[in-house]
Amino acid sequence: MDLAQLHLLISTLMIGSSFLALFLSYHAWKRRQNEAVLFLSFLMASVFLWSFSYGLDLLSADLVKKYILTVMSYVGITTVPVLWFIFAARYSGNDHWLTPLSMKLLFIIPIFSILSLATNNMHHLFFTSVEIVYSHGFAFLYTQAGPIWWLHTIYSYFVLILGFLMLVCMFFKVQGSNHLPISFFLAGWIFPFFSNVFYIADFRPFGFIDFTPLALVCTVVIFTIGILAIRLFDITPFAFDVMFHHIPDGIFVLDLDLEIINANRTAQQLLNAKRYQNISYGSEQECSFNSNRIFSKIADGNDIRIKEKVYNKTSTPIINSKKQQLGTLIILRDVTERKQAEDELLQAKESAEAASIAKSEFLANMSHEIRTPMNGIIGFTDLLLETELSEKQQLYGKNVRKSGETLLEIINDILDISKIEAEKFELQKQDLDLLEQIEELVKIMKLHAHEKGLRLSYSIAQDVPLMLRGDPKCLFQVLTNLTANAIKFTSYGEVNINISVSSRYDDAIMLLFSIRDTGIGIPVDKIEYIFEKFTQVDNSSTRKYGGTGLGLAICKQLVGLMGGNIGVNSEEGKGSEFWFTAKLEIQAKAE
Ligand code: ADP
Repeated sequence: MDLAQLHLLISTLMIGSSFLALFLSYHAWKRRQNEAVLFLSFLMASVFLWSFSYGLDLLSADLVKKYILTVMSYVGITTVPVLWFIFAARYSGNDHWLTPLSMKLLFIIPIFSILSLATNNMHHLFFTSVEIVYSHGFAFLYTQAGPIWWLHTIYSYFVLILGFLMLVCMFFKVQGSNHLPISFFLAGWIFPFFSNVFYIADFRPFGFIDFTPLALVCTVVIFTIGILAIRLFDITPFAFDVMFHHIPDGIFVLDLDLEIINANRTAQQLLNAKRYQNISYGSEQECSFNSNRIFSKIADGNDIRIKEKVYNKTSTPIINSKKQQLGTLIILRDVTERKQAEDELLQAKESAEAASIAKSEFLANMSHEIRTPMNGIIGFTDLLLETELSEKQQLYGKNVRKSGETLLEIINDILDISKIEAEKFELQKQDLDLLEQIEELVKIMKLHAHEKGLRLSYSIAQDVPLMLRGDPKCLFQVLTNLTANAIKFTSYGEVNINISVSSRYDDAIMLLFSIRDTGIGIPVDKIEYIFEKFTQVDNSSTRKYGGTGLGLAICKQLVGLMGGNIGVNSEEGKGSEFWFTAKLEIQAKAE
């Protein structure tokens, strides 16, 4: 092959390969949603410009034409390293500092170099001299490097090496199949880099020919193989891209000044919203791109309503391997469905509670209404029994009265529990003499105890203050209920009421009341249920012992109102000890 043929071959190769770069640029452009790939598209466009202009330059022998083509190829030469650098930074994720401004700054030296090359005739600072020389059958521009050429070259090498190092670091950080695309990018970088190093170091086997554009062909070929073999742009970068942009959560990347430097599609839509509502605080706020920091003000875990959706906010610091914080990642998670379910549940709960209160109110009213005629029935039966009646009539009359009394008891219980549940029960606060209360209780209960042959006793610990303030009726009701139960469920033995101090406060005291009996006791598996409404250990016992199963439920509610607890220790067949605590104020004079 003679020199003219070689000449033609090399220039054709460069022009031909430049179109391959153009094709690749177009291919990457189609996938420009991923910013790394977008810069690869620009990079390939620059490679096209470089190779194409240089190929034409080789074919031309005219100084002016050659100079214009050189300026054109320098547009590619100066921008390729910067674009490569941006691509590497974006692809490796080291791009938190890549703002529109910093990217513009990166292009200052390339633009300055091109302008000074275009105007070199006036100042000769890019090339100190330019002339045509002929070597190996080619016409070349023989140039002497000026200070701006050196500035551009040093800058280009600096960013090229930096980009290379980013990809190398990434190569060691990633795992598995991710190594393959990075290897392609690194291999694609090596050829042009070294051919340019050889060219600048004056290692030129074909005289003045710079083989860098031809080496860039290798890059293009490697990338093309990559596209065909491992779908270079399609899978790895796009997996992250799809994930980032298509998940329904809004993702914001903030720098240390809390400025948003990246936001996925959902996040961008959210930022465009006019208003948002911070549900936890119920406050409405304006929100737009001008108020970038707005979401960073919301506390983590808070729910935010934007348009029709509800988002929950979490933020995570972005920390590098040196444990330095680079920024913050804010995720607004779409919790609309969960929130809807919660709201529905809350509504259902509220309406159930309202229904329950309405039912209790109805019961309270009804019981109250029934109680008045019931008192009439009992009262008039009493009067009837005082008149002259036959023995049979006396017996019937007594039965009417007993049934009336039982019914009244039930109605009273229902009235009490429904009053408490309808939240109509208010605790009184008045002076009470504990000893007086207990003696009154024992006086009433003794009658029943003695009827059954039981011993009823009480003891009050020495340190229990007797002059207290509280609701005497309420306390009396609980004590009566528990003592009456103790007597009811005990056939022989004794019932003992004991009062001691559970804990002391500044001006109040928590008293512990215990009512112990030697009765039938309660099976272990029933203990947890007996404080529930309408619960009895043995339903058949209703006939033997009577009752409604409401007494303990009422006690539990009343004790709760008095700030205490209620419980039982019991052994079946041996007896039970019901206890409860109640907080009572100490009368000032009693101290
Ligand atoms: P009742 O009106 O049936 O007495 P309570 O709520 O007062 O309703 O009591 C519920 C059930 O707890 C009783 O039916 C009984 O089975 C059991 N019980 C309550 N007190 C005692 C006790 N001192 N000894 C044994 N069982 C008891």
